[in-house]
Amino acid sequence: MAAVPEYFGSLVFDDREMKANLPAGVYKSLRRTIEQGAKLDIGVANAVAAAMKDWAVARGATHFTHWFQPLTGVTAEKHDSFISPSPDGGVIMEFSGKELIQGEPDASSFPSGGLRATFEARGYTAWDPTSYAFIKDKTLCVPTAFCAYSGEALDKKTPLLRSMEALNRQALRVLRLFGNDKVKRVNTAVGPEQEYFLVDAAMYDKRRDLRFTGRTLFGARPSKGQEMDDHYFGAIKPRVAAFMADLNEELWKLGILAKTQHNEVAPAQHELAPIYTTTNLATDHNQLTMEMMQKVAARHGLVCLLHEKPFVGVNGSGKHNNWSISTDDGVNLLSPGETPYENAQFLLFLCAVIKAVDDYQDLLRVSVATAGNDHRLGANEAPPAVVSVFLGDELSGVLDAIEQDVPYEGVAKTKIKLGVDVLPKFPRDNTDRNRTSPFAFTGNKFEFRMVGSADSIACANIMLNTAVAESLKIYADRLEGAEDFETSLHEMIRKTIKDHKRVIFNGNGYDDDWIQEATEKRGLLNYRATPDCVPHLLEKKNIRLLTSHGVFAMQELASRYEVTLENYCKTIIIEANTMVDMARTEIIPAIEAFVLDTAKAAAAKKELVPGCPCAYETGLVKKLSALTDQIAAKTAELEEAIVTVAGVGEVGAQSAAIRDVILPRMSELRLPCDEAETLTAKKYWPFPTYGDLLFGVR
Ligand code: ADP
Ligand code: MG
Repeated sequence: MAAVPEYFGSLVFDDREMKANLPAGVYKSLRRTIEQGAKLDIGVANAVAAAMKDWAVARGATHFTHWFQPLTGVTAEKHDSFISPSPDGGVIMEFSGKELIQGEPDASSFPSGGLRATFEARGYTAWDPTSYAFIKDKTLCVPTAFCAYSGEALDKKTPLLRSMEALNRQALRVLRLFGNDKVKRVNTAVGPEQEYFLVDAAMYDKRRDLRFTGRTLFGARPSKGQEMDDHYFGAIKPRVAAFMADLNEELWKLGILAKTQHNEVAPAQHELAPIYTTTNLATDHNQLTMEMMQKVAARHGLVCLLHEKPFVGVNGSGKHNNWSISTDDGVNLLSPGETPYENAQFLLFLCAVIKAVDDYQDLLRVSVATAGNDHRLGANEAPPAVVSVFLGDELSGVLDAIEQDVPYEGVAKTKIKLGVDVLPKFPRDNTDRNRTSPFAFTGNKFEFRMVGSADSIACANIMLNTAVAESLKIYADRLEGAEDFETSLHEMIRKTIKDHKRVIFNGNGYDDDWIQEATEKRGLLNYRATPDCVPHLLEKKNIRLLTSHGVFAMQELASRYEVTLENYCKTIIIEANTMVDMARTEIIPAIEAFVLDTAKAAAAKKELVPGCPCAYETGLVKKLSALTDQIAAKTAELEEAIVTVAGVGEVGAQSAAIRDVILPRMSELRLPCDEAETLTAKKYWPFPTYGDLLFGVR
């Protein structure tokens, strides 16, 4: 095997390849498009397409595809081959600039949330030159945005790019006010830590719930769970290690900076973190990472579960969205500086984030709302559904001092330095860790921990970027008109702290007392379930935010509302139907078979030993018969509820009905089934148990 630097990015048409394969003039115009969004001339596009095609064909590619991210959350691709007939009966390999720039997949099979009804069914994909093309499965994949013909976005990438633009616009205004004329572009960067489970493929195949829904709908707790804390950072098992090595290699070839891997808290749970990169690229890379995890797992006889809560009673999986803002000349704006002046700028950006999180708690919650993620947020697991910001004692102390206009005498015992009026200098290294906070400052970045493991990180970053752009806009508006910059700056920072300190919380976010304090004393929002929060997407203040920064048009928001709730409803209805099927065709028959054999054993014993009371068998048969009756009754109730809910028309009302009627009935059906599992001989049970799944990979 070659050394990593030799094959890293070997399947990516990256800057190195562009430079090597494009005429100098073409390369220069393409860079201008990538860096400044300049329009690409068709001659240039033709030259780029030809070079890309030659490069891809030399690496075995036969097809190309526009690779995009529809609202389903997974990526979509439609493959066309490069072949084109030549007059001599053979073929030549062709790829035109037009084919590179724009494609026309049929939009009608992708969710549009009503946009299809009002607009044309056709959609088009448009090349996103800021994300490099790559080869996957002998196909040249061109990252693209996906829109309706009338221009509305039907994907997650378009609004993400718009939100990055909005933040860039407002951050540049603020930097100019600080006298910085050099910076040309401000970008956000993300490093998403991805959690996942690995289970044995043969066992997975035996469970309809895993195959149809990605999570277990039944299953008694195993006698060993995660209580020993022996899995976290534990030695990696050989089969898992082989999977990880293979996965890294695939990701490195795709230019993805896979960096850290370790076992997570739950048995069979693992994590992979890449080195952070520009948000747009990080989003594409995370989608590819999830896809590769599943593909590579299959090669190792494993299945990678990306669901947020595959097992009840053990930790679920999330995605930690590490997020920072930096300039094109490499300054991290969320990093405390060396001089008081730099610190003033840092504090302003910090305040912009705090204000954004407080003002738009609801949008952040909406951005991570899925049926799967509801099992983490709002259930008994960290992080909670209440959005709060962790800053650590040091930084909180600094903000307190500013708010109260007193000298800062915190841990560092640093006196206020009067460079920019009264803003203090404090140590750079402020990396307290708090694993329960949904939104934690970790030294030079924020870690948004509410994102679900299966979800695209696009939505979370769209909301985050836009909300922060809004804070910065408010600051820039005020500072541009200020008589005295420093006084205004100081006042604004103070005001932000005063108005928004309710969202800062350094304690245990897992605690019931906190939830009570947050909601009752501080007035923070606590939307436990998806149907509770998604309607707030269409609140006036949120529509104003998202439309005024050009991130979403009104119709696009209405469409996202529809699609998000539709997804929620479909997911849970599929789960409910799967439960009904499994209970009726697998669980009840298994219990019956065991009961019959137990009864037969008792009869045989009575014949052998006349007068034998057979108390054990009688008790067991009685208990299991009662459970079977319960299961049958609860199955019927759930089935009835599914029919009722299907009749509820509007998607908001339907999602609420599903939350209130279907989910409780699913829990009620599960209970007797799980109890029966603990009483039924293992060889009768129709599918692998939690113990088999969680400890089955060696
Ligand atoms: P952990 O949070 O597990 O202690 P790290 O803090 O080292 O681990 O990094 C977690 C993730 O944060 C990695 O993907 C890393 O690349 C990313 N990260 C580090 N610095 C930044 C930054 N400035 N902006 C965005 N992401 C970052
Ligand atoms: Mg982390």
